[in-house]
Amino acid sequence: MGNDSRGGTNDVVPPIHLSTTFGWASGAESNEHDYSRESNPTRAALEEQLARLDGGDHGLVFASGMAAISTTMLTLVPPGGHLVSSDSIYGGTEKLLTELAADHFGIDVDFVDARDPGRVSAVVDSDTDLIWVETPTNPLMRLCDIEAIADIADDDGVPFAVDSTFASPYCQAPLELGADIVVHSTTKYLNGHSDSTGGAVITNDDRIAERLGFAQQTGLGNVLAPFDCYLVSRGVKTLPARMEHHEENAMAVAQFLESHDRVSSVYYPGLASHPQHGLANQQMSGYSGMLSFEFDGTPLELEAFLEGLDVFTPGASLGGAESLVELPSLMIPDEASHGEATAAIPETLVRVSVGLEDADDLREDLRTALP
Ligand SMILES: *Cc1c(COP(=O)(O)O)cnc(C)c1O
Repeated sequence: MGNDSRGGTNDVVPPIHLSTTFGWASGAESNEHDYSRESNPTRAALEEQLARLDGGDHGLVFASGMAAISTTMLTLVPPGGHLVSSDSIYGGTEKLLTELAADHFGIDVDFVDARDPGRVSAVVDSDTDLIWVETPTNPLMRLCDIEAIADIADDDGVPFAVDSTFASPYCQAPLELGADIVVHSTTKYLNGHSDSTGGAVITNDDRIAERLGFAQQTGLGNVLAPFDCYLVSRGVKTLPARMEHHEENAMAVAQFLESHDRVSSVYYPGLASHPQHGLANQQMSGYSGMLSFEFDGTPLELEAFLEGLDVFTPGASLGGAESLVELPSLMIPDEASHGEATAAIPETLVRVSVGLEDADDLREDLRTALP
């Protein structure tokens, strides 16, 4: 998890280079960096660190997870092109696909239930420009078989991208399973402290890296600022320790919820009751700290539950030290899918980002707040 960029001064952490420009030099003295949008030493250090973490040759960091996603999609898929996406995805990605990609750029977007790779292969052909899946998905915690979909993508020569934000590089390595591109919202587990918004793309494909790098640095200028690069780089150093603790707490919370009579279903890949628990064991090296559950009660009771919580904070986002609960239907109604093209989100679904508090405090908080 370390970092080799020591700036000639043996700094143990990468220095924050705020300079937007670097004195010009010629010949052997020529600069590695000359203008910070194009290239910045703090950003280069983070990009290298994240590439190594995901087993990739190239890393690019963006101003947000959505910036990483939109740059990937809109660079690789031309207007009028064809994109196949899993039907259970982050709300922002869904909006991007329906309102920008389809409505504005005329891209033909097919949403499929990618839990079944057969449904992906049914709509993909050699004219498809990109296959996009999220696994585990936000907020339904569904999984896609990365290896099986990578085979389909390979057969038709189509680039295959995985949004692996919920797993983090600690729990899942999509490139090793055959994906061409892995995307993270670094806002979540990679930074891990709820104090930096960012996104990352990692790939082994030189041509894709070149095209996305051009868009990131020149065409769109969609780069992550040096201070945020520093924060993410710092977060990455504790990723293994945090992920182990997130998972341990999430398992404790999932088991508690599963035994509660006002909870009708719990979705956590680590539970034997998860319909894709076997796939989780096959392609993930950990179950991460995200889960969701269906509350057995009325929306009013659910609101009272949120208000009764003390340790958990009702709020958006995930992957930080603080446990958060989000009720998509109440808190992000514009983004919560009603299930026309994409998978419906039940009205009483609660998404939980299990933080790093004491597991007993988390269980006790839920016990007290649930009716
Ligand atoms: C949060 C999130 C995003 C978007 O990232 P931002 O940093 O908020 O732009 C994309 N995908 C998933 C799975 C997310 O959870």
